[in-house]
Amino acid sequence: MGSGLFGAVFAQQMTENGKSCLIIEKRDHLGGNIYCKEIEGITVHEYGAHIFHTSDKKVWNYVNQFVEFNQYINSPIANYYGEIYNLPFNMNTFSKMWGIKTPAEAKAKRAQITGEPRNLEEQAISLVGQDIYQKLIKGYTEKQWGRDCKELPAFIIKRLPVRYTYDNNYFNDRYQGIPEGGYNVLIEQLLESCDVRLNVDFLQDKEQLSSLADKIVYTGTIDSYYNYEYGALEYRSVRFESEILDEQNHQGVAVVNYTDRETPYTRVIEHKHFEFGTQPKTVVTKEYSADWKLGDEPYYPVNDEKNQKIYAQYASLAEKEQNVIFGGRLAEYKYYDMDKVIASALDAAQKELADK
Ligand code: UDP
Repeated sequence: MGSGLFGAVFAQQMTENGKSCLIIEKRDHLGGNIYCKEIEGITVHEYGAHIFHTSDKKVWNYVNQFVEFNQYINSPIANYYGEIYNLPFNMNTFSKMWGIKTPAEAKAKRAQITGEPRNLEEQAISLVGQDIYQKLIKGYTEKQWGRDCKELPAFIIKRLPVRYTYDNNYFNDRYQGIPEGGYNVLIEQLLESCDVRLNVDFLQDKEQLSSLADKIVYTGTIDSYYNYEYGALEYRSVRFESEILDEQNHQGVAVVNYTDRETPYTRVIEHKHFEFGTQPKTVVTKEYSADWKLGDEPYYPVNDEKNQKIYAQYASLAEKEQNVIFGGRLAEYKYYDMDKVIASALDAAQKELADK
């Protein structure tokens, strides 16, 4: 159930080992949120930018069996009321923000907070100090999550590197890139030996569809599987506004984060830069973070205390299932990166094959 990365990787492992798999997909296309659409010869990330990065050699070798990756390195910039800063937080950011030159000067600027940060605000200030927090984190984060930084878990901001070198690579990982030809190539390769039914909502026909298989891999929202019996888990959603512009290069970089509170969108993606495109036109997408209500597309799990408690109840039901495997961002209610989802699908598949 579901043809995103978890489902597709799991299915690939099964078909490689002689099992037969049927993919049930609610949408009219495969790939979950890594699905891309070609517009004006440009690969457009329909459900938000996906940049593949990993330090896990096993995962890197695995995906490279199916598709080649280009040399894209994510180096987004931040626009704060028209002031431009490099991301992630590094010596380029510090020198522009504070007029300093050396790592020692940058370190001396940092606020001294002792003790374990209790929330995202304390974590951010302890990592980069007050003024970077105010200009590059607070507004963006509050737009993105629709909550005060004091009410968000510290781990969210720990995803971002802080470096005392002049290095604008957003990720610390050993391997990085975008699949040549887009993510659809990867998904199609993974699902090459599977039967696929698009436009079928598994939950509408759960009993009948479940009876078709010895084992179900469910990658939708876990609360919907259990008919919301402990209440609905909350998500953040994203609304995308894309336009084709009659110019070759609009913003000079794939990702610009708008970190002030007033700009209504969080970031603008210019898709062609993911693949060094030279097409005469360009496609740009504004991302608006949105409240989520039942029926909307879920993107980011809100891993605060309240939701984690609800999730724990569903997880204990899931553990008791004999024939259902729950995996991926929605079924595990986890802010997973792509490489971590692949690793977890490979593990789940290995476990399943070992049990036989
Ligand atoms: N973040 C920020 N300013 C930025 C970029 C990110 O404050 O310019 C914070 C924000 O809280 C965000 C988190 O860092 O939710 C993680 O950002 P990342 O880019 O990893 O988010 P994703 O790409 O998953 O949306």
